[in-house]
Amino acid sequence: MNKPSAPSLPAAHFIRAIVEADLKEGRYATRRWRGTPGLGEEQARGNLDTARIRTRFPPEPNGYLHFGHAKSICLNFGLARQFGGRCHLRFDDTNPEKEETEYARSIIDAVRWLGFDWEDSRENNLYYASNYFDAMLVCAEYLVSAGHAYVDSQSAEAIRDSRGTLVEPGKDSPYRARSIAENSALFKRMQAGEFPDGAHVLRAKIDMASPNINLRDPVIYRIRHAEHHNTGSRFCVYPMYTFAHPIEDALENITHSICTLEFEDQRPFYDWLLERLAEGGLFLRPLPRQYEFSRLNLTYVALSKRKLIQLVEEGKVTGWDDPRMPTLVGARRRGYAPEGFRLLMERIGVSKSDSLISYSLLEDCMREVMNETDERRVAVLDPIRLVVSNYPEGQSEDCEAPNHPLRPELGKRLLPFGRELWIEREDFREVPDKGYHRLCPGGMARLRYGFIVRCTGCEKDAAGQVKTVFCEYLPETKSGTPGADSVKVKGNLHWLSARHSQACLVRLYDRLFSVPNPGADGHDFIEDMNPNSCREITAQVEAALKDALPGMRFQFERHGYFAVDTQDSSAGAPVFNRAVTLKDSWGKSA
Ligand code: ATP
Ligand code: MG
Repeated sequence: MNKPSAPSLPAAHFIRAIVEADLKEGRYATRRWRGTPGLGEEQARGNLDTARIRTRFPPEPNGYLHFGHAKSICLNFGLARQFGGRCHLRFDDTNPEKEETEYARSIIDAVRWLGFDWEDSRENNLYYASNYFDAMLVCAEYLVSAGHAYVDSQSAEAIRDSRGTLVEPGKDSPYRARSIAENSALFKRMQAGEFPDGAHVLRAKIDMASPNINLRDPVIYRIRHAEHHNTGSRFCVYPMYTFAHPIEDALENITHSICTLEFEDQRPFYDWLLERLAEGGLFLRPLPRQYEFSRLNLTYVALSKRKLIQLVEEGKVTGWDDPRMPTLVGARRRGYAPEGFRLLMERIGVSKSDSLISYSLLEDCMREVMNETDERRVAVLDPIRLVVSNYPEGQSEDCEAPNHPLRPELGKRLLPFGRELWIEREDFREVPDKGYHRLCPGGMARLRYGFIVRCTGCEKDAAGQVKTVFCEYLPETKSGTPGADSVKVKGNLHWLSARHSQACLVRLYDRLFSVPNPGADGHDFIEDMNPNSCREITAQVEAALKDALPGMRFQFERHGYFAVDTQDSSAGAPVFNRAVTLKDSWGKSA
């Protein structure tokens, strides 16, 4: 893998170029579409397809989506949106016993959350591949009838052993020469449930000497006496993924079937299969074509389903939606913005070379969109008391604070000022360094949106910790009044009235792993977990934030973007998750 990179804008995009060329050439202009998936002769009775291209996002509903899936979603749905096409959401649920409806529901939510849809007034392109089992059997039976497939009765080991290697050709199965009639009868009996699991398989008859091992008579159907969540016990033979996928694409009129690079070696079989089926009249040309791109890899996280399952099952995180998890449910709970994901995917582009994208780039994208959208609020994360000794006790007055510095239309709110305030512990130093412009004995700073104050000293507890800072305010310097600029200061601090503020639980997140590439060199990736990836504190926030609703997000000035947790908040007691800090504290190399 390459070093972490921050690709320049706009990213080169070879798939976009392919689509443009296809459209220019009119390659897909003659396709017919009856409104739902179907075999060629069914589609032939439909109208011209109004979708200029069709793409699909085909998750297996066996887990929660992660940031890598977001890349595929943005690419497929984004291309359809850009070029006047349609993108289908297809659950690839051809594997019995593995899928769960809970995952399917969560995938639907995640795609919608990212801002995409498969449904409008004319079409609803949400599909389940298991609804195509009948059509897949029609295809398999055609292959048998045309002499392109045979029933092999060798054991799985014997099939594996005779497949050959990269340097040696494979060996023909002793059953390869079975007659069409015999294959046809056996395949029927396989479907009728006459044989136990593993007794026979159906194999494509291609070339045992092909330099591409995937073309050495791949298995296309196996016997599996299993309950399927959709079809129950109707079938006891199930298609292999590499056979099912091209057929799913063809049934759905997909034009550009975009997948990750590990399927590159399968493309010759994808084409072989669809060519044979088109020859048999089962599908119409032009056929779908497969294109491969490199997966998204991000520093400081793990994006493999297997590793994510391990984190959840071993209790290393609180669940799939733990805000530190690189899952879309986690991202949503943490407060990441869907627009931030779309921006990231646009920025990193699509290519065929493996790359490791810096997590900082993702965070930059989040900051960029949140800076535009999020209202500002004040929170003091590590509070110490500031007493304004010349301000009358029991009195208070309002200071005006804009909700967004660049968007006056979002209005203003009032922050009460009084004698006792909260400020950040780090905004006071008894002995300041050179260049420290915040409070120190004798020094002056502005309380943002309020007054300039002059610090007069502090009081410590028995342990020597500063407990209270004292100051005097300059009444003529209130922000927004003519005297505001009469005294010049460099420091500008945030603060809250102690009497009016609200205590809240705040969670500050850090990287889940402490190294960029967890588990590199083959050691256990769990060893690379950052033990301090979540810190819980009690902060003081503006009183009105008490009523912030789950999912709402704000910029806490000087601290970053915080979202109200959707699980642990209750009415009047929000818990805030920091989605991202205001600045990158990790450096561009991270
Ligand atoms: P599995 O480990 O089960 O193979 P998967 O992550 O490949 O899991 P799928 O449900 O098969 O999950 O993926 C759906 C789609 O998302 C596929 O088209 C796949 O290519 C794409 N995808 C998965 N991971 C990434 C990634 N890291 N970057 C880009 N696309 C991805
Ligand atoms: Mg997969």
